[in-house]
Parts: sequence; structure tokens; C-alpha cells
Amino acid sequence: MEIPKDHPRRKSLETRERLAELSREGIVSITGLIAHGRGEAFDYLLGEKTVKEAAVAEEVAVAYLLEAKNPVISVNGNVAALCAQEIVRLAKSLPAKIEVNLFHRSNERVEKVCAYLERAGATHVLGRKPDARLEGISSDRALCTREGIYTADVVLVPLEDGDRAEALVRAGKVVIAIDLNPLSRTSRTATISIVDEVTRAISNMQQFVPKLKDNQLARKELILNFDNKRNLREIARAICRYLDSQFQ
Ligand code: ATP
Repeated sequence: MEIPKDHPRRKSLETRERLAELSREGIVSITGLIAHGRGEAFDYLLGEKTVKEAAVAEEVAVAYLLEAKNPVISVNGNVAALCAQEIVRLAKSLPAKIEVNLFHRSNERVEKVCAYLERAGATHVLGRKPDARLEGISSDRALCTREGIYTADVVLVPLEDGDRAEALVRAGKVVIAIDLNPLSRTSRTATISIVDEVTRAISNMQQFVPKLKDNQLARKELILNFDNKRNLREIARAICRYLDSQFQ
């Protein structure tokens, strides 16, 4: 049977096709495809929607990014494949820098992901020529740029792995994670954990920019009143409530 055009299932099938295609082109890695499947499973548990607590974290994240001196959005293959245009738009409106950082790094893949972001409208993508290393991780994921992640005070890390999230926190940065898995090390380590699908999260964050851009008082209040642990606990409750509601 044909799936209706606007059905969420059709959208997720189209996304899978796009990721498979971009994996053949070398933008998404094979393990990136596995990570996507893990994300989809958690999105089911949230009802495939932005829960209230995620929207709160998204607004607080924008407050932090607007307060930052050197905010940077770290982009990997999956993030570029899923929402390059949304990332570019958010980076321009904050403004924030974009830096490509790959788990499975090769110069060729970095070039492909940078070029993909540039085709989506990015004008200054960092990451092709790393000139610094993040302490505490041994792999190539430690590579970064002085202009970007190395000196950043606030870093947005969508779909990050736990080791790098921990290293960024140890380096004294405010780390904003976007990760559908509230149990991941990344979600548990980050300063702000946004438990939402990355495309939805970035689009929602965009909506908060005009409201907060010229309102420092509102930004400070949001930051002061936010408790990440409490928010994660509420997300766990939202998942339980949703599951419960499905089997009445
Ligand atoms: P950790 O190392 O943090 O404990 P992990 O080993 O699962 O977690 P990765 O393999 O790097 O780390 O996975 C990235 C995370 O991204 C996964 O937790 C997955 O749930 C999440 N994820 C995948 N796709 C999406 C998406 N579209 N939106 C938001 N999160 C996603």
C-alpha cells in the first residue's frame, strides 16, 4: 500500500534513502548509518515529536549561543546529510562558526562534507586545515582549529560521541548536545542536552533567535533557571508516559 505523502513514516523512509545515497558518495560513514538507526529507535519512544522539555533545552541553548564570545557548531557527516541548510541558516543568524569534525576522518571526506555545506550556502567552513588538538582523545577526532573549536567557549555538538563530548567539557567549554538518546554518555555529560531529532531541533532553535537576540535579560534568566539533570529526568518521564499511553 502507498504511504500517504505527508505521513511521518514516508519522511523517515526518504531520509533513509538520502543517507544511503550520501553514504555511497562518501559523506556519511557506514557507522553513521548505524547511529541513525539508533536515533530512529529513540525517536519512536518520544512519539517522533519535540517534547516540551526538549523545546525548553532548545531555547536555553540559543541563549547560551547568543551569549558566547566564540560559538561554534561542530558538524559531522550525518548532520550535514540530515540538515545542512538548517545548520547554515542558524549559523548565519546567531552568528556562529561552522567546523567539520569527523569520527572517521580522511582529508577526502572532510573536503566532501565541507563542500556539501558550502553548496547549502555556508561561506566559511572550518576543519580542512586543523592546527590544534583537543586534550584527552587520542584519535583524529581530537583535531580542530584554533579559530574554531579550540578557542570556542560554547560548542553545539549534534550527534556527538561520548569521548569527544567529555573532552570538550573537560576543556572548560559549554557543550550543547543534540542526541535522541537521553542515556548516552554525550547526553549525560553535556551542559545542555537536547533530546530531539536534529532537524527538528535546529529548526526550533532558529525560531528562538529573533526573540532572544536583543534581550540579554531573558537570555540570562533562561540560563540561570535551567537544570540539565532535572530536564533529562523529565524527558525520561515523558518517554514512560508516552509508552504507557500506547498500551491502554
Ligand atoms: P555515547 O558515546 O554518547 O554514549 P553513542 O556511542 O551512541 O553514544 P554515537 O555512536 O556517536 O554515540 O551516536 C550518536 C548519537 O546520535 C546516538 O546516541 C543516536 O541516538 C543519536 N542520533 C542519531 N541520529 C539522530 C538524529 N537524527 N537526531 C538526533 N540524534 C540522533
